[in-house]
Amino acid sequence: MRVADLPLAPEYVDHFEQEGIEELYPPQTAAVDAGVCDGGNVVAAIPTASGKTFVAELALLTADGPGLYVCPLRALAREKFEEFDRLPGVDAGISTGDYDSAASDLAGKDVVVATSEKVDSAIRNGADWVGDLACVVVDEVHLLGAEGRGPTLEVTLATLRREAPAVQIVALSATVDNPEDIADWLDAELVESTWRPVDLRIGVHADDTVRFDDDTEASVPVDTADPATNADTEVTAELVRGAVADGGQALAFVNSRREAEALADRLADERLTAVADAAAADTAAGDDVGERSDDTAADDTDATADAATVAEELREAGGTETGERLAESAARGVAFHHAGLSSDHRALVERAFRERRLAVICATPTLAAGVNVPARRVVVRDQQRYAGSGYEWLPVLEVHQMCGRAGRPHLDPYGEAVLVAAGEGERTELWDRYVTADAEAVESKLRDPAALRTHTLALVATGFAGSQAEVLDAFAGTFYASRTPNPDLGGDVGDAIASLVDDGLLAPAADDDAGIEATPLGEQVSRQYVTPDTGVRIVASLRTVEAMPPEKVTELTAFEVICDTPDMVDTYLGNAERAEIYQFARRRSAELTTDMTHADDFEGWLESVKTARILAEWVDGASVDELVETYRIGPGDLESRIERAEWLLGAADALADVVGVSFPALSSARSKL
Ligand code: ADP
Repeated sequence: MRVADLPLAPEYVDHFEQEGIEELYPPQTAAVDAGVCDGGNVVAAIPTASGKTFVAELALLTADGPGLYVCPLRALAREKFEEFDRLPGVDAGISTGDYDSAASDLAGKDVVVATSEKVDSAIRNGADWVGDLACVVVDEVHLLGAEGRGPTLEVTLATLRREAPAVQIVALSATVDNPEDIADWLDAELVESTWRPVDLRIGVHADDTVRFDDDTEASVPVDTADPATNADTEVTAELVRGAVADGGQALAFVNSRREAEALADRLADERLTAVADAAAADTAAGDDVGERSDDTAADDTDATADAATVAEELREAGGTETGERLAESAARGVAFHHAGLSSDHRALVERAFRERRLAVICATPTLAAGVNVPARRVVVRDQQRYAGSGYEWLPVLEVHQMCGRAGRPHLDPYGEAVLVAAGEGERTELWDRYVTADAEAVESKLRDPAALRTHTLALVATGFAGSQAEVLDAFAGTFYASRTPNPDLGGDVGDAIASLVDDGLLAPAADDDAGIEATPLGEQVSRQYVTPDTGVRIVASLRTVEAMPPEKVTELTAFEVICDTPDMVDTYLGNAERAEIYQFARRRSAELTTDMTHADDFEGWLESVKTARILAEWVDGASVDELVETYRIGPGDLESRIERAEWLLGAADALADVVGVSFPALSSARSKL
């Protein structure tokens, strides 16, 4: 099927042809056949790089009104927004600051790109653009199975469909075990395909040999005898070296930030020439990327210069110590990537890799979700991750998503993903667990009591439900209900309502025996987009603040109040630091709302004090580097805490208004963040 044959205006056909899209990929043709251009609901479960964005664009462009693109990851949202905004005559908007309230200027946009939390928040705050939608595209719909955000996504979609029954839903999924269940729920046609634009083979390395799933083998001998080196790392280094020497780029996945940095350091020692070799190999192969000079001698210099410019850009984007280490490594063609990096650094690394100015990224699994960074070869060194009490196997879906990054369309003849095993026994284990196995089925997490409390409160506060029966009606449209033969949520929803009444967030309706309504506090908790538990915690702290001498109520108090809530992320407290934070808490105890001798969860509270202290020093002018150095957090961790603090201080301020507590330090702290 050709783009020119689709029901699209000529300017769109031209636009796509300029982007190199003339003939549809097979899964795209299947999506058209399933009705994506005719307003039909479609679920497409197809691999990475098989052209999901184009499917989304077809739905959005042929819909009879404004469209919404729901995207779980902010880095990815930006990419999509820019892509949609380039479409001729399309005015796109973006709303991804996960937690702030609805921006009214989104009304009138042709396409809005937003996270599911942002859409949920917009609905709770009565944003009118939501009611006008003709088409909703949900990317990464398999995240329905994720705790926390999964329930938000399913309740939001159920609400959208209830409020606008004619809305077209197009859901894009990774290849999971039960896409038909998602299609059933959404009354959608299912398009399921394993077609990829570049062939992918997956294999396991053990005992000097990679055995692939296409029955081929490759000999990759590695000297692992030296007890001073880690055998898996040496194998990874060899696999990466091979891919780069062959003119490709490589992604290596490990299980922690420290390991990502250590591996980058290990590889950087030899990468510089490898980048140059890669450039030379491209030219020799007559690669038509168009950016490289034909002069092989000049290519060595080009590649070195490329890596040097990446290092320069990284330094310009923030002169932290982590940034400096990253820049030094990037200057030699290798970067590391993990959640501790600032978002600017992460974005720069991703872009430089796509532009082939870096040969290798050593990453934690977060890189595998969503963002477009294809490589010739993917090496999965670690298949287990530390999870609190011990090591756990990574989910199959996660490993498949890492592997799916292999193979760059138009550049690589094929993609290769290799899992590193310690020996033949582990080869068999990895083979069964990841190579031949299907990804897990997507299962709803709505029944989680915290999720039910959050969404029950939201349904009542927004006026979508005014009784237990109406809450149950609203939940009848969820993925949970469609997956459960007798979804009897009555007991659980009854418990959720009773606990919300106890907490003062809901109350029996004045004029109706069976009715419930949100109290002013409950309404504000829902609008501010904090969880009921956080709302209750903040209110309890506000009561303490009320009784404190006003001169003791400081910005540190404000930070402690918001940090000691479930909506703030914890900050790891090492043993060495514990005594120091304890002393700090004692010294400043008059400013803190929690009496340390009575803290329910003393360790958790101490972590909150650490986060509060970091934030208080930040507003007092400490630099990122000082904080990173003193508290051993990454610049990215600081960034995410500042962002959450801004949201939670605003929420606490609104709640203080409702309960009538004067607490000016909340807004003064917020204005300095
Ligand atoms: P994903 O399925 O991972 O979201 P994308 O939509 O980002 O994949 O597409 C991957 C790449 O393939 C993009 O560069 C896109 O321009 C290109 N592409 C998509 N469809 C076609 C097509 N029919 N013909 C040629 N290139 C295409």
